[in-house]
Amino acid sequence: MVTEDQPVKARRAKRVTRDIHVRLVVEAIRALGPSSQADISRKTGLSRAAVNSIVQDLRETGVVEMDWTNGRETKVMLAPVHGAVATIELEPEAVSGTLYSFAGQQRFRMRLDQGGPAGPEELMTLLRQLTAAAGLEAGDLSGIALSLQAPVDAQAGVILGPALRRYPLWKDLAPAAWLAGQVGVPVILENDANLAALAEWAWGAGRGASDFLSLTCATGIGGGLVVAGAIYRGATGLAGEIGHMILDQSGPLCSCGSRGCLMGFASERAILLALADDELPPQSLTEVIARARDGDAACRRVLFEVGRYLGRAIANVVRVTGTRLIAVGGALSEAGDLLFNGLLHSVDILNLKAIAPGLEIVPARLGEDAVALGGVAALLDHLGQGLSALPAWMEHR
Ligand SMILES: [Zn+2]
Repeated sequence: MVTEDQPVKARRAKRVTRDIHVRLVVEAIRALGPSSQADISRKTGLSRAAVNSIVQDLRETGVVEMDWTNGRETKVMLAPVHGAVATIELEPEAVSGTLYSFAGQQRFRMRLDQGGPAGPEELMTLLRQLTAAAGLEAGDLSGIALSLQAPVDAQAGVILGPALRRYPLWKDLAPAAWLAGQVGVPVILENDANLAALAEWAWGAGRGASDFLSLTCATGIGGGLVVAGAIYRGATGLAGEIGHMILDQSGPLCSCGSRGCLMGFASERAILLALADDELPPQSLTEVIARARDGDAACRRVLFEVGRYLGRAIANVVRVTGTRLIAVGGALSEAGDLLFNGLLHSVDILNLKAIAPGLEIVPARLGEDAVALGGVAALLDHLGQGLSALPAWMEHR
């Protein structure tokens, strides 16, 4: 017997399927850049007719545009974004912000060094100054992405567990909901390494890959994993935290309570510690890299060994996830071959290329802009918009 519910259920199921297909098409255009409907059909596995119908709908709602310039071969691309968005990077003792004004095609960047714990007050001060520089008020923004150097629960918009120690002024607040309440615009919260991964995947070294690992190596080591076209968080929200992968159980003690985490070998602090007995010990990672380039044997050795540890960590991830494309960014990646030689040495001795043919480990492309741009990528996604390509004004260089 047919109950009344069934047609309703069927309609709902059909709508959900349609929503998924629409999302697939938008993601395909973002990954491919301006593309023909045939390309989109190949990328998504949807029929040409289905792609055509979705593209027409997306055109009517202003999400995509058609490029008629090259005659009969029409390209579909994401429509330009209007208004302005900002990424605010919350560090334990500093706040920096980048505002992208799509209307004015301008990028504004500011930093507030607190020299002590930074909290809501510093965030609001920076946001006021940043929006004023662009001739706006915070409420004029289409959205704000908050980035933290800590694992977060992106759904609930809160900082996870032990990391709160480094953000004492946020301990009783859910940062995203709090800021949204203050300024009345959508706010999303995300881990900085996840944002960097998102940016590299949307517009940088990971473009077009369905699976991708991005590593950011500087004062800390962050990892972001894109699986099947989305940031993979895992049930705990901690997925991709490669900095605490245990590589040597007799290694140095880590702040997380384990021994021998990757952080203990490859973070800036670990690198400086390894060179602490030098007659003139270097004071920063940048100095270590500069000295290594000038031929300092100890600095070269340390960077080579750091590369080997990174390679070992990457090998472990690849064995579990099957990721074929890995980008390494952050201040450490500025070392170039000095780092990559060690890294590829590990990949060789661990026989990784035999297990993962076609494996590529490449430098990240977006440099120090990656986190801020990742905020834009996450916001546009949240707002149902997108950018096929990164316009020059949005990049620092
Ligand atoms: Zn650890």
